[in-house]
Amino acid sequence: MIEDSPFVAAAPVLVPMPAERPYTYAVPPGMRVVPGSIVRVPLGPRQVAGIVWDGAVEAVDAKKLRPIEEVFDCPPIDKAMRRFVDWIAQYTLSAPGMVARMLLRAPEAFDPEPWIEGLQRTLAEPDRLTDARRRVLETAEGGLAWTRSGLAHAAGVSSTVIDGLRAQGVFETVMIPPRPVVAAPDPSHAVPELMPDQKAAAQKLRAAVAADAFNVTLLDGVTGSGKTEVYFEAVAAALDKGRQVLILLPEIALTHAFLERFQDRFGAKPAEWHSDLPPRMRERVWRQVAEGGVRVVAGARSALFLPFKELGLIVVDEEHDPAYKQEDRVFYNARDMAVVRGHIGGFPVVLASATPSVESRVNAGQGRYHRAVLSSRFAEAALPDLKSIDMRRSPPARGGFLSPVLLEQMQRTLEKKEQSLLFLNRRGYAPLTLCRVCGHRFGCPVCSAWLVEHRFRGQLVCHHCGHNERRPEACPECGTLDHLVACGPGVERIAEEVVAHFPDARTIVLSSDLLGGVRRLRLELEAVANGEADIVIGTQLVAKGHNFPGMTLVGVVDADLGLANGDPRAAERTFQLLSQVTGRAGRTGKKSLGLLQTYQPDHPVMRAIVSGDSEAFYEREIAERGRAALPPFGRLAGIIVSAATRGEAEGHARGLRRAAPQASDLFVLGPAEAPLSLIGGRHRFRLLIQGERRADMQGFIRTMLANGPKLRGSVRVQVDIDPQSFL
Ligand code: ADP
Ligand code: ZN
Repeated sequence: MIEDSPFVAAAPVLVPMPAERPYTYAVPPGMRVVPGSIVRVPLGPRQVAGIVWDGAVEAVDAKKLRPIEEVFDCPPIDKAMRRFVDWIAQYTLSAPGMVARMLLRAPEAFDPEPWIEGLQRTLAEPDRLTDARRRVLETAEGGLAWTRSGLAHAAGVSSTVIDGLRAQGVFETVMIPPRPVVAAPDPSHAVPELMPDQKAAAQKLRAAVAADAFNVTLLDGVTGSGKTEVYFEAVAAALDKGRQVLILLPEIALTHAFLERFQDRFGAKPAEWHSDLPPRMRERVWRQVAEGGVRVVAGARSALFLPFKELGLIVVDEEHDPAYKQEDRVFYNARDMAVVRGHIGGFPVVLASATPSVESRVNAGQGRYHRAVLSSRFAEAALPDLKSIDMRRSPPARGGFLSPVLLEQMQRTLEKKEQSLLFLNRRGYAPLTLCRVCGHRFGCPVCSAWLVEHRFRGQLVCHHCGHNERRPEACPECGTLDHLVACGPGVERIAEEVVAHFPDARTIVLSSDLLGGVRRLRLELEAVANGEADIVIGTQLVAKGHNFPGMTLVGVVDADLGLANGDPRAAERTFQLLSQVTGRAGRTGKKSLGLLQTYQPDHPVMRAIVSGDSEAFYEREIAERGRAALPPFGRLAGIIVSAATRGEAEGHARGLRRAAPQASDLFVLGPAEAPLSLIGGRHRFRLLIQGERRADMQGFIRTMLANGPKLRGSVRVQVDIDPQSFL
C-alpha cells in the first residue's frame, strides 16, 4: 500500500532475505509504484530486487528512509501471488522474504527483453543480380524481418552479401520484437479419440475447468491408462478459456518424450522450467510467463513461483512423488502448495497418479476432492504379470544377489530380444566396506553414515555430505593388505553380476552418479526407450514416468529395502515405488513380467502388489493411519536442531521442548538424537510435534520458538511442517 503522508511517500518492500516483514523505503517524487511492483532497493551495502508489498507502512521518520532506486519495467506480481507468498510463509513458518526470494530468481528478466536489430526488404532493386543475391532476395520474399545472420544462414550466403544489399538500400534496418520461447499451443490441433472410460474422466476434468472456480480432481489410473492423454483435455479446456496452464512433473520426468507428446497434441511445445535450463532461457521464460506470451509451462516444483499473468489450471502429475517436497530453506510440498495456489486463484487443480498418496485418497474419499478413475491400460497393453520370489527358497549363488529364478527370466527376455530392468534403490557398488581382519568399518568423518563404495570411481563416498576418499589397499586400522570386503549390493555391484552372467548383453547402469547430470540422464533414458540396451540397472530415477516400449521384464532386487526404516509412510512409499517400477513393463502390448525379490513375501505391501489389489492396500493403510492419528487424520511437524557440538544441539532442543505451551490437542515427542545424528559435522536432534487435524500447529510452534532459548553460536533450527523425512 502506498501511503501518501504529508511529508514523503513510502512503501513496504519485501526483500529476498530472512526478514519477518517488509522493510519501508521512501518513494522518490515522480516515481510510481503499486503493490507487486518489482523494485531495486539498497540493502546494507548492496542493491537487491524486492517486491512492493501490501499493508500500511510503519510511521517512521521519512528522512531516515532510504529510497527505492528503480522500478523495473515489468508486470507487477499480482495479488494472488502475493497472497500465496504470505500463505506459504505463514504455513511453513518461513520468513516471507525467503519465499519471495523464490519468485525473484531470474533477475535479468525484470528488464524487458531487448528488441533486436533486423533487416526488411525495401522496394529498391540491387544494381546487379548475382546468384548469391538472388537467393537472398528469394529467401526474404514475403516481407518478414530477418536478422542479418539468420538471413545469411537461411540463404546460404556470407553476411557480406547481405551487407552489400543493405548498402544499396535493398534492405532497411528495422527493430524486431523478442521471439517467443515457444509457439502458441493449439487446443484443437490433434484431438484424440478417447476410450469410453477416458472420455468419462476427461468429461469430469473439462467440467471442473468450466466451473471456473477452485476445485481439485484426483485422476487416479493405472500406469499406461492414458492419464496424460486425459489431463491434456483439461489443459485444452483451460487454453480455450484463454487461461495459462502449469503442468508440474518430478524433475526427472520432464523428458524430451513428454515435451514431444505435448507437441503432438497441441502442435507446439510447452515452455520448460527446471534446474537444468540455461540462465538466459530461464529469464526469457520468466518474462514471457509474466507477460502472458507463454501459455503452458511444464516444470519442476519451483515453477509454482513463476509470475503467471492469468493462470487457470495446475496439473500435478505423479502427485504422490516425494520429489515434490523441498527440504531446503523453505520446506514445502509443491503438491499441497499447488492446491493452495488454486484455492487462492479460484481455479481448478488436477492431481494425477497411478498410486496416489494416502492423503489425496482420503481427501477424495471424504468428498473434498473429486475423483476420476481409469482402471485399465490403453488398447492392448496389459499390466505385467507380477510375482514375488521368496529369497529364502530360491537364494542367489554365494556372493551374488540375483536369484536363479530372476536370472532365468532375464535369459529368456534376452533371447526374445526384449529389455529387462533391474531396480535397486542404492547407488554405488556396496553400502558398507569393512576389514575382514579387525572389523574396521569405513564411516564418514563428519556424518553418522557408512561410506558407500563407488568402485567405478575407485572411491568411498558419503551420500549425505559428499565426502569422498580413495579406497585404500590396506586397512587404516590394522594395516592388513587386501582384506577389505564390500558388504551388500549397490547398482554397480548388480551390474558386475549381470555382466558375469550375460557378457554379450548390452548392460547400462542409470543412477544420479552418471556424469553429465540430468541432461545426460535424460539422453540415456531416451536411448533405452529406443532399444539401445538389453539390460538396464537403475535406481528410482528410472521409475518415473518413462515409457520403455521394449521393456518386458522388471526385477526388483531388494523389494524389502524401503520397509526397513521407521518412517510412517514406509509401506506407502514402497507400494508406490514398486508399483511404479513394475509398471515400466509391458506398455506396448507384449506379455510382460514383474518379479519382486523378497524375504517377506507375506508382507501386506508385497501381497497388494502381487495380487494387484491396490484397493485393499489403501483401505488397510488408511485405517492404520486413522488409528494412529497420523496424517491426514492428524498433524505432524518436525523441528530439527543442529549445532557444531552435540551439547549445544541437545541443550537448545531441550530448551525448545520446555518452551512448548500447554495444549490439549498437540504434544511434543523428543528431543531425540536424529537417526542421522551427524551431517557435515553438525550434530542433530529432532523434536516431533503431533496432534489433531484441527489443532493450531503453527501457533504452537511459534510460541515454542519465541519462548525458547535464543539462537546462539552455531545453533540452527529448521521447522518441517508435514515432514516426509524423519532422518
Ligand atoms: P499414463 O500417463 O496413465 O501412464 P499415458 O497417458 O502415458 O498413460 O498413455 C499410455 C500410452 O497409451 C501412451 O503411449 C499414449 O499415447 C497411449 N494412449 C492412451 N490413450 C490413448 C488414446 N485415447 N488414443 C491414442 N493413444 C492413447
Ligand atoms: Zn558425510
